[in-house]
This record gives sequence, structure tokens and C-alpha cells, in this order.
Amino acid sequence: MENASPTAGPDRAGSSAERVIEGTSAAPGIAIGTASRYDASAPDIQRTTIDADEVEAEIELLANAVQRAEQELETVRALVPDAAEADTEALLEAQALMLRDEEFLQAVRQRIRERTESAGTAVQSVLETHRKRLETSGDEHLHDRASDLVDLEKRLLRSLRRGKVAVNMEAHSIVVARNLTATDLFRFSRHSLLGCVTAEGGATSHVSIVAKALNLPLVVGVQEVLEAVSSGDPVVLDGYEGRLVVRPQSATVEQYRQRQAEREASPLKDGELEDEKMDDRPVTTTDGRTVTLRANVGLDTELDLLDPYGADGIGLLRTELFFLADGGRTLTEDEQARAYRTVVEATGEAGATIRLLDLGGDERTPRLRTGPPEDNPFLGWRGLRALLDRPDELLRPQLRALLRANRHGALRVLLPMVTDPEEVRRVRAIIDEEVDRLAAEGVAYDPDLPLGIMVEVPAAAVQAHAFAEHVDFFSIGTNDLTQYVLAVDRGNERVGAGYDALHPAVLGLILRVVEAGRMAGCPVEVCGEIAGDVQAVPVLLGLGVDTLSVAPQHLPAVQRIVRALGYEEAKGLAREILQVTDAETARRRAREWVDTHVSSSST
Ligand code: PEP
Ligand code: MG
Repeated sequence: MENASPTAGPDRAGSSAERVIEGTSAAPGIAIGTASRYDASAPDIQRTTIDADEVEAEIELLANAVQRAEQELETVRALVPDAAEADTEALLEAQALMLRDEEFLQAVRQRIRERTESAGTAVQSVLETHRKRLETSGDEHLHDRASDLVDLEKRLLRSLRRGKVAVNMEAHSIVVARNLTATDLFRFSRHSLLGCVTAEGGATSHVSIVAKALNLPLVVGVQEVLEAVSSGDPVVLDGYEGRLVVRPQSATVEQYRQRQAEREASPLKDGELEDEKMDDRPVTTTDGRTVTLRANVGLDTELDLLDPYGADGIGLLRTELFFLADGGRTLTEDEQARAYRTVVEATGEAGATIRLLDLGGDERTPRLRTGPPEDNPFLGWRGLRALLDRPDELLRPQLRALLRANRHGALRVLLPMVTDPEEVRRVRAIIDEEVDRLAAEGVAYDPDLPLGIMVEVPAAAVQAHAFAEHVDFFSIGTNDLTQYVLAVDRGNERVGAGYDALHPAVLGLILRVVEAGRMAGCPVEVCGEIAGDVQAVPVLLGLGVDTLSVAPQHLPAVQRIVRALGYEEAKGLAREILQVTDAETARRRAREWVDTHVSSSST
């Protein structure tokens, strides 16, 4: 907030000084409340006993944990390859049976009720008794089964811990953590949390994308936050400016309340732009070049934003978030077909680009992940590699669901993390097979499904010309492209200063893709976060990009800037920036250009 004082004196009401700590804005919005510290690694089921009035809550916690563990087992079992040893299957089956064993559950509930043991302790005690019985049974088979119980115990305790973390979160608080995952955000959001602030993390990480989709203000990279804030401290989180105010003075709180009320009353405008119509399309530059502006969507709740924000359909739907929002389980083909139908019907003629599951990397859907942990997950079992590795489990059902939903509108399919044209060829072959199967099964579908790739691996950008003959469109994912080109982890705040998609090396690759697309008549759009950055938009347009896909909240600002700039002049800016060798100079030049070429009311 412009006039929040960074070093104000003591509040009239309290004794400690207000403190303003700067970070990086990762999702907009203002949150005013008390801090709640969250430590993902804290052993929060250590408590062994509970108070008598907590018994029923503890039993509910147990029931939820059992349910979560059952779902987890179901997912794991679905992912066990057919060829896996019968032992694995038997082990999982035994765990599932135990979770449904009323005698076991009754014994746990009894300990909670009669001995006021915490759910975790009661589970451990009951399983310990079982284990001893099996070990001393004299039966070799039963003796072996004893060790299976260790796995079950771990699973249940983990599940209890997850539930407990969420339950312990004070509703209407602001979460303070070292780092968060997208899964954490989904869990928190069910507890009406107001916002989150982390010591680490980057502005284009997946967690920031999820926070935007959930409408949860998020500020990352507030390095001192863990030292400066304790649970219960009053705080104001400013997700617009990337700032946290600790123990704010009453006047500061009042200023933020006003600002919050203004935003709520008029979320699309900035006060001075009252007359603007967001859906006045087409959006053209001052010299008449039309620019298509689409929306990046992660949750079905965001579909309601498309019209008010004037989006030309969806340019990127991250389907892994649909899975994550449902607890991270595998959605069935039917469930997916229904979900994609809702999406495509909401976008009308403009249609929707649906990206196939992008697993891996920053642990987008940990429950769908299989195999051993990886040292470099961003360079590992991720995106299309994972899908092609196990096509029957995730790829085929998703493609079938898309072919079916396509009957109700105009879908496009987007492949994540593509490196080699051969991968595209393999997907096309699988689509053909599924088309034949749907036809043979008499299931209705529409095979007219344009296929595009995310250009986010440098190899795909460098060889865009080779991909052009295999694909119907390119969508440049600058979030990943930047981290791979600059070798800077997009989620690592320590090196965050070196992460900027406006780096000329990244821009050079974007130009290369634009040119390859132009030669082959293959449309190119940009869907990484840079497309919603008003300083970068003139540069992207100047490079020849004419379609941008951005988070709905960024659309108004992007529309304003496109309408206020001249394409021919933007080409000059792009040429100039391609000559520099570092992101800092490129960004400074882009900022100056916007300041001088675009009237201030437009930015
Ligand atoms: C990207 O990498 O730029 C992108 C749009 O995809 P995601 O942020 O989901 O990795
Ligand atoms: Mg990506």
C-alpha cells in the first residue's frame, strides 16, 4: 500500500512496533487477520492424550484419516502396473481390509473414549497389540504379516497428521510458512483461510498459480517472516504489492480495509477506469493489430470469470489442478468427460485449450506420482514423459474424455513438457487408436481435436521448425522455459533474482518459435506468467506474438496496455531488447518504454 509506513511507532492499542516486510507478490488480494504458523515437518501428532471435551473431535479426525488413507490406497492400487508382483497387490489389499475392519476401528475409538488417548496414540497402541499377537502366533505366515502393519501404521499416522494440520489451522487466519505446496493450499482453503505468506518460493511456482485460482492472496520470499511472526500476531498481507505488515497500527489496518472494500466493490477496475467495458472485443493495438487474449484456468470456479473479464476462451487449462482439487485422486474417464464438457460449454465458440496432466516437477499431484523420489524432479519423470511411460493409466482415459467432451464445443489439446517430435507422433497414434475404440464401442465423440505442444523445454524451442509439421499450434510456457534456459529453479527464492522471462536469451527463443510458426502457418501463443506482466506485453507483441493467455485477474491490465500501444513501435522495442545481454537491462528498458509510450492511465 502506497502510504503504509515501514517503520511506524507503537500502536496506541498495543506495545510493539509495526513492521513492514517486503517480499514478492505471487497472488493478488489483501488479507487482514492473525498469523497462524504452519510447519509441514512438525510432528503434530506427538500429543498422546487429549482433554475429555476433545473426544468427539478426535474420533471425527480418525474417521477422516481412515477415509483419506483408503482413497490413497485406492490410488496406489490403480497405479500398480499389471505386471507388478502379486505380493504388492496382496499387501495393499491387506491394508485396505484392515482399514475397513470394524473391530480394529472400534478398538481405536474405545481407547480414545475411555483413556482419552489421541487418535495417533490409540492407533499405535492397537496396532502394536495386533502386531505382538501375530508375532507370537507361531504361524509363519501370520508372523510375516506383522510387518505389513508397520506400513499401515505409517499410512494412518501420516493421514492423521494431514487432517490435524488443517483442523488446527485457525479459520480466518493468515498462514505463515517456510514453504507450501499446492496440496497445502487446497487443504487450507477448506478452512476459510485468508491468505498465505512464505519465506521461500517463487512468483511463478505452481503454488502461486493455485493461490490465484483459489483467490487467496499469497506473498512469497519474505525471508525474515519466520523470525518476525508468531502465531496469533496481527498481520496485514498485501498480495498486490508483495508485502506483509506485522502488528499494524490501527490507521494502517483502516487504510487496508478501505482498499480491500474498494477492490471488492469494483474488482475489475482501478477506480479511474469506471467506464471501461472489459468485453469490448476485439482488442487491438493503436495501429490496428488484433491481439487475442485468453484465460489460464485451473479450477472450475474460475469459469465464471471468463465473461466478466472478457476472455476469448481458455488458452490453458491445467488439468492437474482439477485432479488436485479433488484430493489428488485419479479422476475417472467419465468424471473427466463431464468436467471438460462443463469447461467447453462455458467457452462457446472461442473454445478451450486443455493441457494433459503435467505431473511431477514441483509435486503437482503427489498422489499420482509413482516410483522412487528423484534428485532433480524438474528434469525427471514429468509431463508427457510420465504420461507416455504409463499410457493406460492416465493418458488414454484423459484423451478419451476429451474426445467425448469435444462434441459439446471446441476443445484443443495441449501436451506438457515435450522434448522430441517423436513424443507427439506417439500421442497422435494413441488418439487414433482411441478414436477407433470409441467408434467400435458406439460412444459419441468428435475427432476434430487440434493438438498443440507447450514449448517449455529449450530443445522444443530450438527445434520448433521440426515440430511445426506435427502440431496444430504452439503455446510457449515461459515459466518452465525460463528456468531451463537460465538454469534457475522457478520456486527457489535464493536464486529468484536471476529468474526473469524477460531475459534476452528467453526472448530469442520466443522469436525463434514465432518465426517457425509463421513459416509453417502454425499459430503461436504465450501462456506463461510473463504474458500477464504489463512491462513484458509490448515486448512479446513486438516479437510477433498475437495471442496471450493469462490468469483472468490480469486480463484487464493486459487489455488496457494492448489498446494503448502501437505494434510498429513495439517491434522496435523488441529489436532493441534482443541486443542486450541481461534481464536487468531488458526489464529496465521495457519499463522505460511503457512509461514513455503508454499513457499512465493505461498501466
Ligand atoms: C509454463 O511452464 O509456462 C506453464 C504455463 O505451465 P506451468 O506453469 O503449469 O508449468
Ligand atoms: Mg510448465
